[in-house]
Amino acid sequence: MIWKLAVDKNLARLARKLLILGVDTYLRRDGERVTDFLDKALREDRVVVTTSKQTYRISKETKRYKNIKIILSRERNQELLLEKLKDLGLETPWHLTLTRCTVCNLPLKKVNWQDYLDLLPEHVKLRYLRGTWRELWICPGCGRIYWSGSHYRSMFESVKKFISS
Ligand SMILES: [Zn+2]
Repeated sequence: MIWKLAVDKNLARLARKLLILGVDTYLRRDGERVTDFLDKALREDRVVVTTSKQTYRISKETKRYKNIKIILSRERNQELLLEKLKDLGLETPWHLTLTRCTVCNLPLKKVNWQDYLDLLPEHVKLRYLRGTWRELWICPGCGRIYWSGSHYRSMFESVKKFISS
């Protein structure tokens, strides 16, 4: 199943991996109250992942959260936690990998590199002009540009073993 997730704030590394995998993931902001976090998860039908007993308890003791799906894990190793989510049914199909902004969780838009040449660093520009790279993506939220290359490849490598076959 394709899940939408809301991840508690101490799980930023898990959230980043999920975002690289293309899973719609909201990371709780610093200073965001538990109830605001849970309200958002409820409103957007997100599965909550937390290691905090307090977050879990509030979700169970508050009537309006009775339909919230929440996973409390004692696992603090975030790679193992990701494996656990997969065991519970989270799907991470390869075609979603690297389709989402890792900063603001919006789906990236594929664009013509020709239109963005002036915004690219010189060495990146050359790769496109020489035809080595052909694909370019932009985040419609924060405007970050995602180009092919080593950073892109290393993001892919960091999640490769978690991609569902
Ligand atoms: Zn963005």
